[in-house]
Amino acid sequence: MATTERDYYEILGLPRTASELEVKRAFRRLARELHPDVSELPDAEERFRQVAEAYEVLSNPERRELYDRLGHAGLRSGGFQPGHFDFGSLSDIFAAFFGDDLFAGARARSGRGADVAAEVEIDLAEAARGPTVRVPFEVAAACDRCDGAGAEPGATVTTCDVCGGIGQVQHVSRSIFGEFVRSQRCPRCDGAGRLVSEPCKQCRASGRVVQDRALDVEIPPGIHDGQRIRISGEGHAGVLGGRAGDFYARVRIRPHPRFVRDANDLLSTVDLTMTQAALGVTLTLPTIDGEEEVEFAPGTQPGAVVVLRGKGMPVLQGRGRGDQRLLVNVLVPENLDDDQRKLLEEFQRLEHERTYGRDEGLFRKLRSAFR
Ligand SMILES: [Zn+2]
Ligand SMILES: [Zn+2]
Repeated sequence: MATTERDYYEILGLPRTASELEVKRAFRRLARELHPDVSELPDAEERFRQVAEAYEVLSNPERRELYDRLGHAGLRSGGFQPGHFDFGSLSDIFAAFFGDDLFAGARARSGRGADVAAEVEIDLAEAARGPTVRVPFEVAAACDRCDGAGAEPGATVTTCDVCGGIGQVQHVSRSIFGEFVRSQRCPRCDGAGRLVSEPCKQCRASGRVVQDRALDVEIPPGIHDGQRIRISGEGHAGVLGGRAGDFYARVRIRPHPRFVRDANDLLSTVDLTMTQAALGVTLTLPTIDGEEEVEFAPGTQPGAVVVLRGKGMPVLQGRGRGDQRLLVNVLVPENLDDDQRKLLEEFQRLEHERTYGRDEGLFRKLRSAFR
């Protein structure tokens, strides 16, 4: 049965031409003023019921049209009985209209779960390929015994009578400067907004249990050490219906015995013997994804840098690849036997000015290798 025969427009303080948005705004404004947890007016609850009823009619185009033409009687003949939604829990109505955000700090009843982070260690060759890695982690999940409600099966759950289900108690004080609203965690329900006759034995009323989980994490090719991959919704379960947090896999890349990474390039060194460097040589050398024949021209100098185009790391979420840069080291013989010594002494006698070129400077080459 209708709680009022007063004009719905008058209750909301609106002209009959008010738009849908204006109806909504007026309801929000009045609802904030009249919420029984906040208002000290003795008739706040009764007035709130009227406001909610007016909103129920005027926010619905069909009902509003009926009411505009035929008034309260028209609504009744149309089979609509305003005020028939359950007023037992006002906070539930608020949640339905506004979510839990009507009052700042009134979010204790539910909340988004926290994020979970785990580390994944891969080696550099895997980082170049972009592997899928199974990552185990611990996560708070909704308790299966109570379905996340925190109550033993069969236990009764009632809305907290102290805070009305909001989980917070509002203290309003008025002064010449205006109204001050303080919120505190409700002492009766400890912020849960509900009272449970028998808490769940498995989760101790928290609604959540710790679970072992594992996810297959797709690591994109070219990922860098320390970067994180986010998988949304795989973190800790939310509290009492709140959405789950996110899962972050932090990727660590093991140092490689042969390659040092420089952005998308890979640096490595190669040892040429003195004679290989002087005469030229072709060697089979490791790259990040296999072996490669590399040609060294006669007269290759120590500190020379040979660039293998496209043999570096893939560009993360981009195209192409970096280069592999080979820094040449030349080995000088340490243990000469008599024959070798004689030959080198012979060679020395035959040396002349043009045997050796001018070196551009080892330091400059080093700098270009590790630019
Ligand atoms: Zn439980
Ligand atoms: Zn409470």
